[in-house]
Amino acid sequence: MAAIGRYGMYMVVTLCCGFASAQNYKPGEVIVKLKSDRGSMSSYSFLGKAQTDKQMVLKESYGKMNIHHFGLSKGQSVSEAIHDLSQDPDVEYVEPNYYLAKTSDTGIHESFSLSEIESYAKNTNEILATDSDIGLNYVWQSLTGAQSTSPPIVAVIDTGLQIDHTVITDTGALWVNAGEIAGNGIDDDGNGYIDDVNGWNFVANSGTMYDDDGHGTHVTGIILSVDQNIFTTPRTAAKIKIMPLKFLDGSGVGSTSDAIRAIYYAVNNGATVLNNSWGGTGYSAALHDAVAYTYSKGAAFVAAAGNSANNNDSVALYPASYDVPNVISVAATGSSNYLASFSNYGATSVDLGSPGTYILSTIPTNSFGTSSGTSMSTPFVAGTLAQMKVAAPTMLGYQLKSLVLGQIQTYSQLSGKVYTGGKLNTASAVSVAASTPVESTQPAYTVSYQSASRSVASNESQMAGCGMVSKMSGSSGLPLDRILVTLGLLLLPLVAYQVRRMIWPESRRRHERYKINSEVRISVGDKELVGSVSSISLGGAQVNTAALLEDGGMVTMLIESPDGAEKIEVGGRVVWSEANKAYGVAFDHAPQTALQRITDWTRGLQKI
Ligand code: CA
Repeated sequence: MAAIGRYGMYMVVTLCCGFASAQNYKPGEVIVKLKSDRGSMSSYSFLGKAQTDKQMVLKESYGKMNIHHFGLSKGQSVSEAIHDLSQDPDVEYVEPNYYLAKTSDTGIHESFSLSEIESYAKNTNEILATDSDIGLNYVWQSLTGAQSTSPPIVAVIDTGLQIDHTVITDTGALWVNAGEIAGNGIDDDGNGYIDDVNGWNFVANSGTMYDDDGHGTHVTGIILSVDQNIFTTPRTAAKIKIMPLKFLDGSGVGSTSDAIRAIYYAVNNGATVLNNSWGGTGYSAALHDAVAYTYSKGAAFVAAAGNSANNNDSVALYPASYDVPNVISVAATGSSNYLASFSNYGATSVDLGSPGTYILSTIPTNSFGTSSGTSMSTPFVAGTLAQMKVAAPTMLGYQLKSLVLGQIQTYSQLSGKVYTGGKLNTASAVSVAASTPVESTQPAYTVSYQSASRSVASNESQMAGCGMVSKMSGSSGLPLDRILVTLGLLLLPLVAYQVRRMIWPESRRRHERYKINSEVRISVGDKELVGSVSSISLGGAQVNTAALLEDGGMVTMLIESPDGAEKIEVGGRVVWSEANKAYGVAFDHAPQTALQRITDWTRGLQKI
């Protein structure tokens, strides 16, 4: 509640100039997106400048997106850095690292022990799940039978989860990363996270999951209560999996950079429904890009509309207000299907209502409690989408959204408050999903960054008007830029080494690497390039070629054996590059026969 109160204050400040408040973003940090059309050399040159000339520290890069999270040099303000970097021709946008907060109206109203709930449910035979009028009963009864071998995965991007709560263990709902071996200190599946067996804790930067707030555990219980009646025994095996991703701390506050990491983690590791019971009023283009990425991957992105009783059509709350076609913005309804008093609304920007007052669900430690907020409404929708995926496993996020919005129950009380004028109807949505042909494609979406962000990044007069920035670049800026670029190029090998270490840490190298000298033909699109391979392992190869390969690009390689007697074909992805035209290619598609040939070839070769 305290966090939400603070956001109320930020909103007023935000109206002034986007990021003027000193408190609504992390001091000493910025998020930068580089222009991809200027090529990877130009990006490396920028990263060189940033680290050597500006003493910025590269904290994280978001893979192929060319988005980078920096720590600033000591004493440099965020506004100075934004002003400075926005002049750089390589920079597409630069923005503060905004704080984000959970969207529950209050804490826990009332709590109950496990035995209290179970004996009450048993003795009264009462269904304790809130608002059974959305048709939860129908789903509990209709979707039964054998559990799928690949159940839909719901990412709960939140404060964490009490993973040994009885409801979680009884239902076996916790996602398990099949590619990771617990506790061996190795990133077995090479996804960049060590021992991420059940998700990731972005606050502690570890695979150890806990919930020091309670919000994430409550949200998770609501998603599971769409799957089955979680308050009675015996509980059954859940038809869905929960992937807990903790980015909000013990007070329910987190940063945009961690939210982005969690979103990429979710879709890159198989989640198809993302529950986002959090938000903030600062527009972030980088978060916008991350949400657009989830759309491109076919996932559904469900987000809370917020609890400030505001009209989101006038004052947006992100991520709920992004116009990405897979985003569902959820308002809270209370008694008699009225909008809850605290709930944000928006006739165009908020999609539907969903129960959000006095919702009973799981809380740490191993108990139950009631809570209110759009945070609670959102997981009913996410849980419904997950059950729609149980019925139609390949359905894409866009179609899920269109079906769920087409099946709402309309109420005059909600007319003009939300786009559909209605409330979630789980029974109809799941039943329709089961009988609707699945569309295999969805419309293209191109991110159009909001002008607010561009003005933060580049409009000097507006920033000066806020009293934030006085430094102006003169006409002599260009030669200085050239000098910096030249310096950056000189320092490239050092920077490339740092970048390479960052994106391909030692732990990812699971295979012995060998020195080799072989010819390779590389196909990129319809081009064929010739080069040499100087080292090889079962995981990838170092390729040398005079041609430029794009970072993150897919290639197909025809690699000759050291004696030139045979060739193997493997598909891969460029994961690092160095100034002297050396590239690291990780094997993406290496048939077993090819790996066997590499094993044979490397028997007589020297290990690196
Ligand atoms: Ca891993």
